Amino acid sequence: MAVTRSEIRRWLAEHLVGRFAELKGLGGPGREHEAFAERLDWERHLAAHGWTCPAWPVEHGGRGLTFDEQVAFHEEYALADAPARVNHLGENLLGPTLIDLGTAQQKARFLPKIRAVEELWCQGYSEPGAGSDLAAVATSARLVDDQWVITGQKVWTSLAHVADWCFVLARTTPGSVGHKGLSYLLVPMRQPGVEVRPIRQLTGTAEFNEVFFDGARTDKDLVVGEPGGGWAVAMATLAYERGVSTLGQQVGFRRELDAVAALADPEDMVLQEQLARAAVELSVMRSHALRTRGSDPSVSKLLWAGWHRRLGELAMRARGAESMVMGDDLDQWQRLYLFSRADTIYGGSDEIQRNIIAERVLGLPREARG
Ligand SMILES: Cc1cc2nc3c(=O)[nH]c(=O)nc-3n(C[C@H](O)[C@H](O)[C@H](O)COP(=O)(O)OP(=O)(O)OC[C@H]3O[C@@H](n4cnc5c(N)ncnc54)[C@H](O)[C@@H]3O)c2cc1C
Repeated sequence: MAVTRSEIRRWLAEHLVGRFAELKGLGGPGREHEAFAERLDWERHLAAHGWTCPAWPVEHGGRGLTFDEQVAFHEEYALADAPARVNHLGENLLGPTLIDLGTAQQKARFLPKIRAVEELWCQGYSEPGAGSDLAAVATSARLVDDQWVITGQKVWTSLAHVADWCFVLARTTPGSVGHKGLSYLLVPMRQPGVEVRPIRQLTGTAEFNEVFFDGARTDKDLVVGEPGGGWAVAMATLAYERGVSTLGQQVGFRRELDAVAALADPEDMVLQEQLARAAVELSVMRSHALRTRGSDPSVSKLLWAGWHRRLGELAMRARGAESMVMGDDLDQWQRLYLFSRADTIYGGSDEIQRNIIAERVLGLPREARG
């Protein structure tokens, strides 16, 4: 089902009206608390009109959009200033993983609920002792009768407080170490063995959490891939993390850059030069993303994360001394400055992206592993 830019633009113009128009520009990293329930409504409205999961194949309820059509969708969505999506993790991470690696029963059970935004997902990978070194995961799961019983702690779990389900990387082979013996489990969040504790951030909001599993349960067949073969599944999920949506994200970056430029003193030549450089870098990022068609996610992540973090610093400089004073709440520039510090950490830190580029792209020797 081919789709054109003008069709997407027209649909958004017709539907992003009334109560939905009030949601323009709301949500996103660092601002997930903004109008969450209303954004959920909007996302269900998108679903009712077939605009969630447009990249999924038609047989799984998507539109099977081509790369160029996906770019058009994400860019038009961002140009319309439509609200940030609430089920990104279900639509863009778990859904494609199940489509590629799930069983027929798992696809039938979960994909329609993701597409309809009836079930929200979170990602249970990181732990206090396992971040960049994800293979150090210690959360364990063992089979008792027909269920996995899970014990351990996850951390930095974005949106766990609103999620119905979590895809959890857990150690299922006792005594195993490293990549071996891990399994990728689908775990319901609303059960007695799961406790979610919000982590309050510098920005004052709490959009990620600690998640404690204390005898939490999930059915035996809710393991994606082979038991003990979860590492490959977890890596497949990460490969989807930085997809085409980066191009939509860049439209938002352009809007932020223009707004920072509007704040800047035209006589401050150093700042003006830095803003000009940021504009050029943004154009280069767009050309790079279009040319490589999302095939080198580590380079894209490294470029955009550093760029956005520097934009937060430029915003502070543009606002001058005023930027250091806080009113009742942070303003949008203070929030941008503080939350963009996280950009170079989540989804793989800058150092880890550089390691990947060095080893997989440049073919340099692998770093020594302890
Ligand atoms: C906003 C945000 C949202 C997140 N959401 C989620 C989520 O939903 N689910 C989830 O599972 N996780 C989530 N995370 C966690 C994120 O994946 C981890 O923070 C990240 O992988 C880094 O792990 P760490 O924090 O344990 O730092 P560490 O791995 O302890 O790293 C600390 C420092 O050491 C550096 N370092 C580590 N190893 C190396 C190396 N081999 N070579 C060079 N330098 C190295 C790192 O780059 C970093 O600077 C989120 C994080 C943030 C900031």
